[in-house]
This record gives sequence, structure tokens and C-alpha cells, in this order.
Amino acid sequence: MFVHPGLTVDTAVRVEKLTKVYGSGRTPVTALDGVDAAFNRGTFTAVMGPSGSGKSTLLQTAAGLDRPSSGHVFLGDTDLSTMSETKLTELRRSRIGFVFQAFNLVGALTVEENIVLPLRLAGARPDRAWLAQVVQRVGLGERLHHRPAALSGGQQQRVAIARALATRPEVIFCDEPTGALDTQTAADVLTLLRAVVDEQHQTVVMVTHDPVAASYADRVMVLADGRIVADMPQPGAARIAEHLASLDRRVVR
Ligand code: ADP
Ligand code: MG
Repeated sequence: MFVHPGLTVDTAVRVEKLTKVYGSGRTPVTALDGVDAAFNRGTFTAVMGPSGSGKSTLLQTAAGLDRPSSGHVFLGDTDLSTMSETKLTELRRSRIGFVFQAFNLVGALTVEENIVLPLRLAGARPDRAWLAQVVQRVGLGERLHHRPAALSGGQQQRVAIARALATRPEVIFCDEPTGALDTQTAADVLTLLRAVVDEQHQTVVMVTHDPVAASYADRVMVLADGRIVADMPQPGAARIAEHLASLDRRVVR
């Protein structure tokens, strides 16, 4: 197997000089300004930073949902930046999971149908044993034949996490997955993400505003103005909050 220089076999995703500029002409917006980062397999990273700092853009480009203006995204040893649109869609369906704040479930489908949808779209045969394990892990066994509208927000987000896990992706990106949930439900969802990393050796990269949510991660990366301004092994909720407050003061000045 060819391994790109600097890429260890333990790296699930790596971005290199990742830049994204929106618009052109007089008022282009640089959402990402040459970001270098690697996310190792079996780790849980929280991405934080002020609103507009580029967190969602980082996730979208790293997940192949959007194209960078320049730079590279490597999933394992696959360079996403040179892939055709068709190949990229295939790769997204089979090798990447994504969880959104707004759940994004298909209302007309049952819980079970939502969970296996990525597999069906990828034309892959469901691994029944794995799916049973996923359904049990997210605690949805009794709900498989319900429609999303019959579920609470926390349950819907657990369906979205099960859906993201269905293909055994190499990485799961979550953009403010607890942003629409109350504190207790958020804690359940975060405990689930933590378990997915610890028990199934999945790799999770999660954007959050909440220092308590970030305290479930192994590592906290902070963005400001499209750059990484801090990258720390789990600093604890108090230090995270302090750090964010200092960034806010900087922005206000
Ligand atoms: P965050 O998720 O940290 O709030 P985003 O990644 O959404 O930040 O946005 C980073 C910057 O890029 C912001 O200035 C935002 O207004 C801009 N931006 C994001 N998406 C678009 C878009 N589709 N078109 C134009 N500008 C965008
Ligand atoms: Mg965002």
C-alpha cells in the first residue's frame, strides 16, 4: 500500500493547507486559511471557535460535501481533492458518516429504513450483525418501525448517528449534533458518541459551541478566522470556556 509521506497508518483523515474562499471580486470571504490537521483513528476531536470561524466549512470540505479552493483532504491514503464528482459521492456514501444539528432524517421512511439508506444508496449489502450491534448500541430496538416524527429530538439524533454508523465509515463528522437538544438529551447523545469511539474504535470529529460537550472529546481544536489557534489534549470544560472567552474578548476589541 502506498502511504503518503507524513501520513501514519493510524491517521483516518488529514487536511493539508486547506483553504476555502467563498465568492470573488471585491468581497471574497476566506472561510479556511491554510488549515493543517490530522485526525487519528479511534479518537474523538471537538472543533470549537466563534461563529463564522470556519468550523462548518472545515467539516464540509473534509467530508467531501464541498470542494476546497486549494489544499488537500486525505481519507486514509485517498486524496479527495483529485476525485471526480461521481467517485466523491461514492466515497461519501461508503466511507464517511455525517451527523447534522437538524438530524436530516427522511420523514417518509421508518427508523430502520433511514438507518440502512446510505447502504442502499451505496448499493452495499447490509452487514446484519453490525446493524444489530449499531441498533442495540443506540438503543432504538423498539422504535425500528416508527417514523421520525413519532420520536423525540434525542431519539431522532440517535437514528442519525446509527445511520452514520451503518456503513462502518472511517470517520464520522458531526456539526453541532447537540445544538437542538436539551441538556440531558445532549448528554445521552454525547455518551453515545464517546462509546462509539471507545467500543467500536470509530473516529469522531464534532463541531460544538458547548464546553461541556467538548469535554467528552479527547482533544479540542479551536478555530478563529479560518485558522487553528489552539489544539489541546482534553483541557476540561473550565479551561475550554476560559479559552473561548479570551477569543470573544479579542473579537470585541
Ligand atoms: P462556523 O461554522 O464556524 O460558524 P462557517 O464555516 O459556516 O463558520 O463560515 C465561515 C465563513 O464563511 C463565514 O464568514 C461565513 O459567512 C462564510 N460562509 C460560509 N458558507 C458560505 C457560503 N456558502 N457562501 C458565502 N460565504 C459563506
Ligand atoms: Mg457552523
